[in-house]
Amino acid sequence: MDKQVDAIVVGAGIAGSSTAIQLARSGHRTLLLDRQLFPRHKTCGEFMSPETQEMLEFLGVDLLKHHVKPIMMNKACIYMPRGGEINVPLPGSAWGISRYELDHLLHQKALSAGAQLITKATVIGIELLDNEQYRVDIRQGSHTASYYAKAVIGAYGTRKPKGVIHTEQNYRDEVVYVGLKSHYTGVEAGAQVELYFCDGGYTGISPVPNGMVNVAALLTRDVTQSSGKSVQDILKIASRTNPKLAARLNNAVLVPGTQVSIAPVRLSDIPEPWSTFPHVGDALLMIPPLCGDGMSVALRSSILCSNATDRYLHGEITYNEWKSEYTEKANHEFVKLLKRARMIQKLAFVKANRLYPGIARIFPGLATYVVKSTRLAEAELNRF
Ligand SMILES: Cc1cc2nc3c(=O)[nH]c(=O)nc-3n(C[C@H](O)[C@H](O)[C@H](O)COP(=O)(O)OP(=O)(O)OC[C@H]3O[C@@H](n4cnc5c(N)ncnc54)[C@H](O)[C@@H]3O)c2cc1C
Repeated sequence: MDKQVDAIVVGAGIAGSSTAIQLARSGHRTLLLDRQLFPRHKTCGEFMSPETQEMLEFLGVDLLKHHVKPIMMNKACIYMPRGGEINVPLPGSAWGISRYELDHLLHQKALSAGAQLITKATVIGIELLDNEQYRVDIRQGSHTASYYAKAVIGAYGTRKPKGVIHTEQNYRDEVVYVGLKSHYTGVEAGAQVELYFCDGGYTGISPVPNGMVNVAALLTRDVTQSSGKSVQDILKIASRTNPKLAARLNNAVLVPGTQVSIAPVRLSDIPEPWSTFPHVGDALLMIPPLCGDGMSVALRSSILCSNATDRYLHGEITYNEWKSEYTEKANHEFVKLLKRARMIQKLAFVKANRLYPGIARIFPGLATYVVKSTRLAEAELNRF
């Protein structure tokens, strides 16, 4: 394999794969690296917002033509810890999808666009050399190798690779969460996403293909410390402070091999578009998962970043312009959205949240407004 390429994308999740698709389609020799073997299950509620669907369509990914069809959802049902519920229509139809399928499909698209993909390759160092070239060091089992490129894009999710230079500034919240997900059978699911608040976080239930439901939770590490380590153990802890969740999962049968978890998860205070290279997806910002917007941020940032990187690789803009153009656009796009999402998460977790069902009955439009305010502004994809 050629050790010199035009662009190296570190991380082959939704943000990295979509970046590789766009750069390869623009004619750049693109290398996509991931430490995991695919297909793989991913900690995610698998709730796909209408904005995410629109961006996938823009990238030429048509899930409706795929053999595993998404499941429609048009309502959110929110269950408070000590009783009370709120039902809100969703702004547009959301889809229940499988990340196992979606991420694999994006890899196929990246490969057919001409990108190279290396899995089970852990990036252990990224360095900007004097001549505006990057060196990326990887480890595969007991072997190490280095690749060189004019552009590197960090799409490695919430945790920076060990060999990547850390800036002094702390862009992430101090509160540490644990995220987890599993698929279950035996739970009748309607066209709705269900959110069960409990002490230290929440659990979401939504329909996914093949008659299963996705059960995903985000809980503070403090709350999970008193439990065992398995997904089942942690969900039991969540159920203790929300009896409706316990009742809902009563007949649930775990689908083997679908359990995954991630820790530590730290939500972003502000986006971090650039260190010595651009970041996309969760590496750029970790938005509260409650808002179901993570995939949307991943795709939107990959579109912004791919456009700026394409212009840089074609010699239309300098290195410094590449950096400032992407930084400005990413901040413009995401700072306000992140602030709103952080505010909603804060409101959702306060002790007085038991009052919300009453408030929602008095002001029926309020809950819909809150749900809408977590959505990215309608994408004007032609302008990217
Ligand atoms: C509990 C929970 C529920 C969520 N629910 C939803 C939801 O319902 N809807 C929604 O839209 N979003 C949701 N999200 C958020 C969403 O999952 C993420 O925003 C999205 O997956 C981000 O994609 P990404 O490509 O940036 O990161 P990832 O999908 O995490 O991909 C990063 C990739 O980088 C690889 N990698 C990491 N380090 C290295 C390294 N050193 N070398 C090589 N490869 C590396 C990893 O193996 C991984 O494959 C949820 C998140 C959590 C935690």
